[in-house]
Amino acid sequence: MKTLLPENPVHEEHLPLFKGNRETWLNKVADFIYDKINEEFVPVVPRENIRLSIGFMPGGVKGSAIGVCHYETHSTGNYREIFIKPTLGASNLAECIETAQVVAHEVTHAILPSGTGHNAKFSKVIKSYLGAEGKPTATIAGPRFTLMIQDFIQELGYLPHSKMVEDTKGKGSTTVAVRCTGAETCPGASDKSLTQGWGLIARVSIAVFRKVGDNFRCMACGSSTVVELPENLRKDYA
Ligand SMILES: [Zn+2]
Ligand SMILES: [Zn+2]
Repeated sequence: MKTLLPENPVHEEHLPLFKGNRETWLNKVADFIYDKINEEFVPVVPRENIRLSIGFMPGGVKGSAIGVCHYETHSTGNYREIFIKPTLGASNLAECIETAQVVAHEVTHAILPSGTGHNAKFSKVIKSYLGAEGKPTATIAGPRFTLMIQDFIQELGYLPHSKMVEDTKGKGSTTVAVRCTGAETCPGASDKSLTQGWGLIARVSIAVFRKVGDNFRCMACGSSTVVELPENLRKDYA
């Protein structure tokens, strides 16, 4: 029994959804890309040594990368592991093609020697062979890539995935600055804090700040303090 929320933007009644799961979709796209590359270039890694998933970056949810390729040095099983960020969309053909382009970008990393990075060889494969555009570090689909893959995607069906939304509250600083009003009388002052008119500037976590409020005393001289909130909290507390 399948129950879909009424507002689910990827509703199978409306869209030609792929019948398998998300990993299978990514792998089918990777097969297609791998074969395309193979027509002109010999990959250094066999297809079966490349695995793909949708998941958050191992570097953390705040990472700005939308895809990542880990090399076999990060694998106990000699695999190259590609992760696609779940904030990528799939609710229409254009979004599925852009997600496929991220797969192509990471597969291009995966078929080249580790350490290749975004050099000329990388550019040749992703741009000349596959038709993507943009800076090598941030490629986009563009007309040639779209033309190459759109029939395949339409036949395959759309990626059965609804874009996830990042919690922007977690973005930015996780600490607040606690600034001593003692200025030059404070032994904890630094040249930098003095130019701003403060004594010791300490930082406490937002969690501690929420518990204590702004009643901190300077830990160096005991003077009263002024707490500076990061941008994102200022809105919270307004
Ligand atoms: Zn890259
Ligand atoms: Zn002080």
